[in-house]
Amino acid sequence: MNHFELQGGELACEGVPLSRIAEAVGTPVYVYSTATLERHFTVLRDALTDQGLKDPLIAFAVKANSNVAVLRTLAALGAGADVVSEGEVRRALAAGVPPERIVFSGVGKTEPEVAFALEAGVAEINVESEPELHLVNRVAQQMGRRAAVAIRVNPDVSAGGHAKISTGKADNKFGVSFSEAERLYATASNLAGVRPVGVACHIGSQITELAPMEAAFSKMRGLVERLRAEGMGLERLDLGGGLGVPYFNQPAPPSPADYAAMIGRVTKGLDIQLAFEPGRVIAANAGVLVSRVIHIHERPEGRRFLVLDAAMNDLIRPAMYDAYHDIRPLAPRPGEPLAYDVVGPICETGDTFTRDRLLPPLQAGDLVAFMTAGAYGAAMASEYNSRPLVPEVLVKGDQFAVVRPRPSYDDMLERERAAPWQA
Ligand SMILES: *Cc1c(COP(=O)(O)O)cnc(C)c1O
Repeated sequence: MNHFELQGGELACEGVPLSRIAEAVGTPVYVYSTATLERHFTVLRDALTDQGLKDPLIAFAVKANSNVAVLRTLAALGAGADVVSEGEVRRALAAGVPPERIVFSGVGKTEPEVAFALEAGVAEINVESEPELHLVNRVAQQMGRRAAVAIRVNPDVSAGGHAKISTGKADNKFGVSFSEAERLYATASNLAGVRPVGVACHIGSQITELAPMEAAFSKMRGLVERLRAEGMGLERLDLGGGLGVPYFNQPAPPSPADYAAMIGRVTKGLDIQLAFEPGRVIAANAGVLVSRVIHIHERPEGRRFLVLDAAMNDLIRPAMYDAYHDIRPLAPRPGEPLAYDVVGPICETGDTFTRDRLLPPLQAGDLVAFMTAGAYGAAMASEYNSRPLVPEVLVKGDQFAVVRPRPSYDDMLERERAAPWQA
């Protein structure tokens, strides 16, 4: 459920018509709903606590939506943060996420990043390989610390979804095999700079079936039991994120209740704190990208191009992952739907959001919204084609605030300078 609905013939976010935001801030613009973010987080948390899980750590995957105001909204509900860079650690801290709820993932953490995370006091560093384990050990020892680490396992399951967002197969770059994990755990427990606290996995994104997750998590349970049988201590089992959301053209993903019930089943009787790293399922349906129709270009041979002021630099998912986004006019006109190729102004054929999409009739100047754009939308935006970075707006009830302003052209140019020999 989300809070983007037609009110008096106009698409609104909570109590604010999206056209009002478009007028005030300009387009393209991302708009997020506080009530939807809060709802998605609490529904997931309540489903997990209903399973009797003891104090699960729900660490929002910051890469899905890294806006500090969004993170602040979730932090206020008790969310932690799953981060993959020093920049994301800094964002989480700036949003008020307590360090003891921050989990640091990623295959290529550098020494300065690890040092920064240890200085901040993050809950756990998810180690993805043996060289990384030694890197963390070395940095922690230099700092006179002992780093809490979890070993990230690659459970070698195929979770479906797009190849570019599958992470749990043995030929993906993430994590180590089960046998490696056992060996690394033993190694870690003998190193002076680290303290192994658990094991972690994350098998992919936009997963719409429970079976692959259940298979992976059962294997993780087996690993926990084997390590304990060898006398190792484990405090936490991190099951990652990946739960899918409905993008309208896809199979419906499992509900948070079904997901939680599966977790309850798989981890029953295992006395351990569970951690989760949901991103998309919290943020995707809490955001839209609003754009204006620049013009409609009809080819005599038949193709009808809807040229928008949003482009692949603002929302790259269709170009990168062949992703589907529902597109809705903010004020639908009556009339028979027409087939449109929806494109942006960037000089690349890849700047095509969709082809032959049936939409209500549109005219130049009309406003449309890309739905389900709150995750991996603004966070992946760039200034390609020297288009100023897309702004972000947060709505709460009948209020809205610009939480990342659109940079001016001067801001954009001031970041660059001539080389000294060009002066
Ligand atoms: C991307 C990522 C997530 C979040 O994935 P979603 O599909 O958005 O839930 C969680 N954990 C790790 C390690 C990730 O890389």
